[in-house]
Amino acid sequence: MKKQVVVIGLGRFGTSVCKELYRLGHEVLAIDTNVDRVDYLRDYSSHAVVANATDESELKSLGVRNFDHAIVAIGDNLQASVLCTLMLKEIGIAKIWVKARDLQHQKILEKVGADKVIQPENEMGIRVAQHMHSDKIIDYIDLSNEYSIIELVASAKVADKTLNQLNFREKYKCIVLAIKRQEEVDIAPLPNDQLQLGDILIVMGHRNDLKRLEDRGI
Ligand code: ADP
Repeated sequence: MKKQVVVIGLGRFGTSVCKELYRLGHEVLAIDTNVDRVDYLRDYSSHAVVANATDESELKSLGVRNFDHAIVAIGDNLQASVLCTLMLKEIGIAKIWVKARDLQHQKILEKVGADKVIQPENEMGIRVAQHMHSDKIIDYIDLSNEYSIIELVASAKVADKTLNQLNFREKYKCIVLAIKRQEEVDIAPLPNDQLQLGDILIVMGHRNDLKRLEDRGI
């Protein structure tokens, strides 16, 4: 469904969020105080406007209250990012996601009502380290503190075996949600489906169980 999103702060992070949302077909209002950054985004947003997002009357006159989502990507200006988040909350935006530079910033943003706080460098750093740590894990999504979905490469150990024979569900309490083989994705694998070396398995489970599966099962 098409969403209406206001993106505030068009640095590297805000710009890539804005361009991707627009590419995906959403209505995006891009705001920054910097004229060049706004100009650049004219072709990659529904509307791009020069405005100071800490000025409540400017935000209101832009009709920000009609948007369902806001992304505040004002980089290192902690005061502006907190103030802007607070005003968006007061205006009544349903979902406010904010970029934070560190944990202290994150805590303040949560207190003033940010629905989601993102620390891109921190999160990306963890992701890169996880990839480096394991040759088997290609990607992962944390569902909660305990549960995740990971992508694992099928090694020779599991090649030519069926899901039934491997019995991940019994042995590791993990569920194989899908199997990727080159460009094909099988989103409902059957018990008798046979794995091939290099298949990518998308598996859901408890972190500890996924770790056991990665270490011993695959
Ligand atoms: P990144 O680290 O993602 O590259 P930057 O810190 O470079 O982020 O960019 C932050 C952006 O936020 C800048 O383009 C800056 O002009 C913009 N910005 C800062 N304060 C305000 C404000 N009060 N209103 C609108 N935009 C702002």
